[in-house]
Amino acid sequence: MRPVIITANWKMNTSPADAGPLARSIAEATDIAGVTRVICPPYVALAAVKDALTGTDVAVGAQNVHAESKGAFTGEISAGMIADLVTWSIVGHSERRRDQLESDQLIGRKIVRLIEAAIRPLLCVGELLEEREAGRAIRTVEAQVRGALEVVVAEGHAVPADLVIAYEPVWAIGTGRTASGADAAEMADAIRATLAEMAGVAPAEATAVLYGGSVTSASIGEFLDEAAVDGALVGGASLKTDEMAGIVARAGITAAARSLVAGVAH
Ligand code: PEP
Repeated sequence: MRPVIITANWKMNTSPADAGPLARSIAEATDIAGVTRVICPPYVALAAVKDALTGTDVAVGAQNVHAESKGAFTGEISAGMIADLVTWSIVGHSERRRDQLESDQLIGRKIVRLIEAAIRPLLCVGELLEEREAGRAIRTVEAQVRGALEVVVAEGHAVPADLVIAYEPVWAIGTGRTASGADAAEMADAIRATLAEMAGVAPAEATAVLYGGSVTSASIGEFLDEAAVDGALVGGASLKTDEMAGIVARAGITAAARSLVAGVAH
């Protein structure tokens, strides 16, 4: 049975002073059995959010790490530097692919750094609008997954058993447009097929695949109705406690249904 995961990506929002109270209010409003919750604030607020979440089971994640472990990289943050603050990190977010021109190979090296630091990687993939319109969405996403994970394997690591992949169509991020649930499920299946080729069928089936792109409490149900989709990476709506409460409440219904099915199967 795969977990149901809701991850908040606060992007370049909140300060150390306001991030802690926001994290605490989200934790209290989303305390629902069976849902894995992760909050990814900006670096400067990691410590405040970690403190605020003490005593809860909400995990703290980073939004990015550098591809090297240390050295002359002014202004950058390595996985090892935040290993005491986080248990998760996003890598490969489309805003970084777009603004920092991050390649799949660079992102693969970041996953290696996360493995070394025992931080759980959340790899973001997704196609541009023109790629979807040209019928190349699946091919694009498969190449992103393969491109990053080939680096991991080439550096002597297995595909991480705790890897989570977020399918985030670029045209849906921060735009108010969402993919359909069926499109997200089709992509989750394609991602697992790629993982199966690289790591085997059982690890692929065990890997959680999330949807991201303008998810709100009103739209989350469409994605969680799909058995292939295991939750969401939430941007804008994750800064609002009431939105997160609605999203995680809906995720709790899916988590309960999955555990019922798993119980009947045993
Ligand atoms: C994201 O930041 O990954 C994201 C999906 O943002 P939004 O929900 O605002 O589209």
